[in-house]
Amino acid sequence: MRFKNKVVVVTGASRGIGQAITVAFAREGAKVAGVARSDSSGTAAQVKTADSEFVAVNTDLGKLTQKTAVDLVARILKQTGRIDVLINNAGIIRRAPAVDYSEADWNEVLQTNLSTPFFLCQAVANWWFTTGRDQSPAAARLKIVNIASLLSFQGGITVAAYAASKHGVAGLTKALANEWAKGRINVNAIAPGYIATENTKALREDVKRNQAILERIPEGRWGRPEDIAGGCLFLASPEADYLNGTVINIDGGWLGR
Ligand code: NDP
Repeated sequence: MRFKNKVVVVTGASRGIGQAITVAFAREGAKVAGVARSDSSGTAAQVKTADSEFVAVNTDLGKLTQKTAVDLVARILKQTGRIDVLINNAGIIRRAPAVDYSEADWNEVLQTNLSTPFFLCQAVANWWFTTGRDQSPAAARLKIVNIASLLSFQGGITVAAYAASKHGVAGLTKALANEWAKGRINVNAIAPGYIATENTKALREDVKRNQAILERIPEGRWGRPEDIAGGCLFLASPEADYLNGTVINIDGGWLGR
């Protein structure tokens, strides 16, 4: 119950990594506001089993602007009263050779994976600085965790927009951490390795790619969404109060190879 009386906002909570993060915080007592376009009832049911509260927030993060991000945060705060942790997890990938990459796909990926997390960080930080922050030195800090990728460090194959957006997430994490540490906000990121979700289904179904991926992972298996959730719990906890602007790889050893 490390997160009892805490409110955690998780984007992309309807499935995959976001669902696992939501359930992990719920099991530690947190109330979770889960943002997604589609139905999050599967996540809500698991949170209920953990005896915690889930607030479903339906919105399209692929269309968020600076202004609508402020409205969205206000909508969440109306239902939760406060925000202690923001996990920017929602993300998409579009595959095509760079010479054929469409402007629509480029814009959608950059918007969803990079612009939206920035607008949400900005809106939540503005609430924190004006209203949310308790000024006493012993008070808890606001924790922001952005979900980056191995492609925050590598270029990948036929995923130009995704690699550009995730390099951007790593840079954004450091930039915001530098500006906001003194304001008692910790901004960090997690770079997941190859995790078995909808997002990577095509890779697992490609026998050759699947084998090549598994051969390079020292752990010898695909990651599970729960592997990422553990890192989020740590970064959101007081034990990580002195961590700022880091990108932690949870990848079964991939990048070390
Ligand atoms: P999934 O495709 O399984 O889930 C993506 C989540 O993001 C869904 O909940 C989806 O909700 C939400 N989402 C996507 N677009 C929007 C949108 N426009 N508006 C609202 N919600 C949206 O992906 P993963 O769980 O695999 O990935 C989660 C994060 O982890 C992403 O940022 C991804 O880039 C990153 N990551 C994943 C890796 C992996 O191996 N799986 C590796 C490295 C990074 P909806 O129901 O609305 O579609």
